[in-house]
Amino acid sequence: MSDLSIDDAIAAVIAAGRHAAARGWVPATAGNFSVRAGEHIAITRTGRDKGSLRPRDVAVVRLESPLDPELSAEAPLHFARYAADPEVGAVFHAHIEVAALLGRHFVAKRELLLDGWELQKAFAGCNSHIDTVRVPIVSNDQDTRALAAEAERELTRGSATATATAPGYLVAGHGVYAWGRTPADASRHLEAFAALLSLHLHWLELRE
Ligand SMILES: [Zn+2]
Repeated sequence: MSDLSIDDAIAAVIAAGRHAAARGWVPATAGNFSVRAGEHIAITRTGRDKGSLRPRDVAVVRLESPLDPELSAEAPLHFARYAADPEVGAVFHAHIEVAALLGRHFVAKRELLLDGWELQKAFAGCNSHIDTVRVPIVSNDQDTRALAAEAERELTRGSATATATAPGYLVAGHGVYAWGRTPADASRHLEAFAALLSLHLHWLELRE
């Protein structure tokens, strides 16, 4: 459980937005970022430029409170993660191009399997390039409560071939959700998704 103060959680949301914007992962106010502070969640308000967030662009709400329309439309996906796993301390969502592309391409399989990459070890719980890491994929849906429920279902589904599950999932034609125990973990996971998915795409191209 996160023991960050609310001020630290807000600062971590702002830093995550700036980091993602600098990498081109949140074009045109896309993406949303949240960090847990005890019983509260600090989360980006809707429609804000994630590269220039100020404290007033970040809402602080209790996990069980009804969703405020001022929050990001995708807030249910964040809240579902915190509710499902008390170890989740931060959830970062970005419209990383290669995540949207590969999610769309493999949506019928409902997963993408990564193996053979040293960088897989950046994912918490993954200790070797030999692991086969499952990345769940869900179809996009403008009903974000339904989308959150579908993502949580997909996360509990087993896999016949995978030996590890990535701390994140892809939304087809949309982007990636990544999380971690701390904001630093979630940030590392988001960065690892961007690099691993790019490697995977080039690997598929080379093998054609
Ligand atoms: Zn989005």
